[in-house]
Amino acid sequence: RAKRIPLIAGNWKMNFDHLEATYYVQKLVWLLRDARFDYSQCEIALMPPFTSLRSVQVLVEADKLKIHYGAQAVSVTTQGAFTGDVSADMIAHLGCSYVIVGHSERRKYHPEDDANIVDQVRAVLAAGMQPILCVGESFEERRQGIELDFAVGQVRDVTRDLSATEAAKLIVAYEPVWAIGTGMVATPDTAQQAAKAIRGDIAAMFGDDVSQTVRILYGGSVSSKNALDLIEEPDVDGFLIGGASLDPDEMARIARIT
Ligand code: PEP
Repeated sequence: RAKRIPLIAGNWKMNFDHLEATYYVQKLVWLLRDARFDYSQCEIALMPPFTSLRSVQVLVEADKLKIHYGAQAVSVTTQGAFTGDVSADMIAHLGCSYVIVGHSERRKYHPEDDANIVDQVRAVLAAGMQPILCVGESFEERRQGIELDFAVGQVRDVTRDLSATEAAKLIVAYEPVWAIGTGMVATPDTAQQAAKAIRGDIAAMFGDDVSQTVRILYGGSVSSKNALDLIEEPDVDGFLIGGASLDPDEMARIARIT
């Protein structure tokens, strides 16, 4: 992992209006400053709803904050008559570094299938940002013992037509669906086995250099209580955090642990 700086990304989901977002960012930055947090050792990213991106951008730019931010979803089209959609260029112009793609809640509540997710990845890359591609089995696949094949297959289905240069920009979040928002965190060994299998398959597709560049995050009920054991695993390069990321104190604690 020597070459890969860990990333902790807070997925706020549909929480906080722009005023709350402003307060949150100020508080988090203040907590990290108080703790003399070393941003060169761990990257922090926040993924607010679209309506708060501009507020976060203004704060980050005005105060030269060393945090990154991104969006939770993106349109696959570039512009036009697509009511309610937001394009990758619009997101990139707000200074975003990342876009979450294929989160299990998007796969469940919106018509996002693999083809659509491939197009989102392409749109994000074309706009100069990095996709955080979410994969992971449900409880049923785990019961059948096919969880590793399932997660690896999801990554492969989305990346098979990418170039090595494009693949190197990918971030993968292994998020077993049974662990999201349930308090049932995967064991460090489970997270490591999945991350290792995904990295192995990326190596087979794109070579060792790409596989050693791609950061693989774990997501699913991460908190300051379990982050240390998880981050000690060699193929776990950080976290995508839902519930715990809503508390800036908890986010700061996880950042310091990582
Ligand atoms: C998520 O939704 O990406 C997630 C990991 O949620 P939680 O941390 O709440 O399980």
